[in-house]
Amino acid sequence: MGRRSGNSQGNRSRQLIMAKHNENLRRDTKVVIAGRKPEWTGPVVNPPVWRASTHLYPDMEAFTSDAKRNEDGQFFYGRRGAPTQWALSDALTKLESGAFGTTLYPSGVAALSGALMSVLKPGDVLLVTDNAYEPTRMMGLGILKQFGVVTRFFDPLDLDSFAQQFCPRTKAVMLESPGSLTMEICDVPAMTAIAREHGAVSLIDNTWGSSLGLPALQHGCDISIMSLTKHVGGHSDLMMGSASAGKKYYTKLRRTAQALGHVVSPDDAALALRGLRTMPVRLDKSSKTALDIAKWLAQHPEVSHVLCPMLPGAPGHELWKRDFAGGCGLFSFVLKSADETARARFIDALDLFGIGYSWGGFESLAIPFDPAPIRTNSAWPPKEWGTGAHLAIRLSIGLEDPQDLIENLEQGFAAMEQA
Ligand SMILES: *Cc1c(COP(=O)(O)O)cnc(C)c1O
Repeated sequence: MGRRSGNSQGNRSRQLIMAKHNENLRRDTKVVIAGRKPEWTGPVVNPPVWRASTHLYPDMEAFTSDAKRNEDGQFFYGRRGAPTQWALSDALTKLESGAFGTTLYPSGVAALSGALMSVLKPGDVLLVTDNAYEPTRMMGLGILKQFGVVTRFFDPLDLDSFAQQFCPRTKAVMLESPGSLTMEICDVPAMTAIAREHGAVSLIDNTWGSSLGLPALQHGCDISIMSLTKHVGGHSDLMMGSASAGKKYYTKLRRTAQALGHVVSPDDAALALRGLRTMPVRLDKSSKTALDIAKWLAQHPEVSHVLCPMLPGAPGHELWKRDFAGGCGLFSFVLKSADETARARFIDALDLFGIGYSWGGFESLAIPFDPAPIRTNSAWPPKEWGTGAHLAIRLSIGLEDPQDLIENLEQGFAAMEQA
């Protein structure tokens, strides 16, 4: 009894030792201990939810001599966060190999805009991958244009044309791999090397791979951005984003986020931390099920293409194997049918799949997509597929039993046949 009770000092030093060895540990262990500083958690496992705008100073002396008020992890004012948010951002930093710090944002889109605004100024040129998440594309054509930044799009699969697109005004490159919806894997190390040669900053939307699946900073990216709404939240009940970077770019990210007034609620930060602890288990399970389903779809007579980088033989698989340590449950496939109403019947018949945006939750989702009209600098559908309709569907695979999902998809194909 004596050993266990009243031993908070021992407990503290044990946790500090755990934190110190963080670097040498493996993925799953790191995820369990990341960000759990005893000064933030106290004697419990998770940091309490510190709901706070005002942080009180003990006296005038402390108020007037607070030289550290603008440093991370210091009480100052609610917009700078409190231990709940600090613990989340510290955990994300520990999990992003090579990062010095992580800024939190109220959504993934806010993280993308906040990160871009931290590295761009009027007159600069931004290169964005042509298969980017659509709001990223719209940011380039909308708000960034309004502030004098020129956005150009590049084909993620053509390194030569990518290299040719740089000009002296090119200051930043936005990558995303795999690309949204169409799932192309780009050569991240080669592209970031080209960007660096031209003095441009490389940013990546790393939502699909996450810091666990794609060590983005190790592959040459300067800023790694995630929509925490997806894998980290994991339960379809929170919106948040993050951007992690080494010291130079973290300083810019943080300054810009503060200038823009970005802050996340402590309740959401606590939910995100809770989600984070089970993320490897969920990613492993949904990746495995997604791969089983991708294999099943690949030999289905109604399917023409499976766009799943984890699937041997699928587009991008070799680069995925080279650069990624894991995958997730999100992938797409293309129907042989050119009949849009048949595709709608297919999706309507999937009663285990929700119809809706977002992904990375515990429940499976399905949506149709037709990216051709928004592409400008790369071909969709790929030329070798030939002309005609290529009706596509994106699946986000959750934690259900794979066999039930396959039977549900069978039900979808059966409904497609019925005219
Ligand atoms: C969902 C998503 C985002 C945006 O995240 P929100 O949290 O919904 O704002 C950004 N990038 C990708 C690839 C996404 O799928």
